[in-house]
Amino acid sequence: MIVAESIQELREHLYSLRMQGKSIAFVPTMGALHKGHLSLINLAQKNADIVVLSIYVNPTQFLPGEDLDKYPKTLSTDLAASEEVGVDLVFTPTSEDIYPAPPKLQIHVSELAEYMCGKSRPGHFEGVLQIVNKLFNLVRPDIAVFGQKDYQQFRLIEQMVHEFNHPIQLIMAPIIRDFDGLALSSRNRYLNPKERNKALALYEAIRKTKDSIYSSLSFDIDSAKSRIEESGLQIDYFNVYSVSNLQPVQQISRGSKYVIAGAVFCGKTRLIDNELITL
Ligand code: AMP
Repeated sequence: MIVAESIQELREHLYSLRMQGKSIAFVPTMGALHKGHLSLINLAQKNADIVVLSIYVNPTQFLPGEDLDKYPKTLSTDLAASEEVGVDLVFTPTSEDIYPAPPKLQIHVSELAEYMCGKSRPGHFEGVLQIVNKLFNLVRPDIAVFGQKDYQQFRLIEQMVHEFNHPIQLIMAPIIRDFDGLALSSRNRYLNPKERNKALALYEAIRKTKDSIYSSLSFDIDSAKSRIEESGLQIDYFNVYSVSNLQPVQQISRGSKYVIAGAVFCGKTRLIDNELITL
C-alpha cells in the first residue's frame, strides 16, 4: 500500500497508475476508520481497479465550538486497517498542503441545504464541498463512494458533480450499523456506556416513523420527538423530508420518496441517522 503524505507524492503515484490504464475509485474520509468506512472501500474495490482512500480532518467544515480539536485521530491503526482490506493508496495530506493560503472562493449551497444539517450547521456544507471539490481535482477518480449515513452531504456532492461537470460516477453506500442498530460513526467513540445506551433512541424513532408511514401513510413527529427526548437525548432536528428537495413534509403520498432524518445531542456528542422511504 502506498501512503502519499503530500499533493506532490499523490500526483506522482497517480500518474504511474493512470499510465497503466487503471480505473480509480476514491473514498474520502476523516479517519478514525470503522466498519462503515471499510464497507465503502469494499464497494470501491468492486467498481474499479485501484482504490484511493483519503484521511484528512478538514477544518473548514467545522463550525466554531465544534469538535475539530478533539476529533479522533488514529492514523497508525487506520493505515493498518486500510492495508489489511487492500487499499492501494492512502492520501494523508497536511493542512499546509491543502490550504497553503486562506481560501478566497467558496461554493455556496442553497435549496438542498436549507433544512437538516444545513440549517443547524451553517457553513458546514460549504466546507464539505470545498474539500471534496479539491480532492476530486487532485485524485481525478472515475468513481467516488460516499455513505448514505450523510445523506444530505451525498445529495450536495451529487449536485456539485452535476453542476460542475466532474466526470465522476458517485456511489451511495448503505449505512452500516452496530449489533443493536446504532449507525456506526467515528464520533461514537466519544460516548460513555450510559450515553451509548441512550444513543439508540434516534434510530428507534426513525424505525417507528418508518413503520407508521408504511402501514398507514402517516406519521406523528411530535410523539417521535417526545420519545427521543424522554430517552435523554436533545434533538437538533427530526423530521420526514421529501427526497426531491430535502424540505420537510406534513403528508405522505404514494409514488414519492422520503427520507426520515434526525440529529441529536447525546451528552456533548452530535449524532445523525436516517432511513430512505420509497412508496
Ligand atoms: P467521515 O470519516 O465521517 O467523514 O465519513 C467518511 C465516509 O464514510 C462518508 O461518505 C460517510 O457517509 C461514510 N460513513 C460514515 N459512517 C458510515 C456508516 N455507518 N455506514 C456507511 N458509511 C458511513
